[in-house]
Amino acid sequence: MSYKFLDFDENLFILLIIILIMPKIKVDKKKCIGCGSCASICDNFVMQDGKAKVVKASVVEITCEKQAEKSCPVGAIKVEG
Ligand code: SF4
Repeated sequence: MSYKFLDFDENLFILLIIILIMPKIKVDKKKCIGCGSCASICDNFVMQDGKAKVVKASVVEITCEKQAEKSCPVGAIKVEG
């Protein structure tokens, strides 16, 4: 038996909740000095035009992103969640 919640399909509703609670990763490009430390530690960061860029801004599971955050010499990386 399936049921509806505010006309959302049950699976869509669950997916939205998962997306909302997924950890978020951000790089402040104004702070980034392009040292490349994050990209050398974690595949979720790449260097582009001399600045770090996040590959996936939301991840199901944090792997190396926290390490990259700690390695950033200017505190440009924020991992929330
Ligand atoms: Fe930029 Fe920090 Fe990454 Fe270095 S570790 S490239 S300063 S975000």
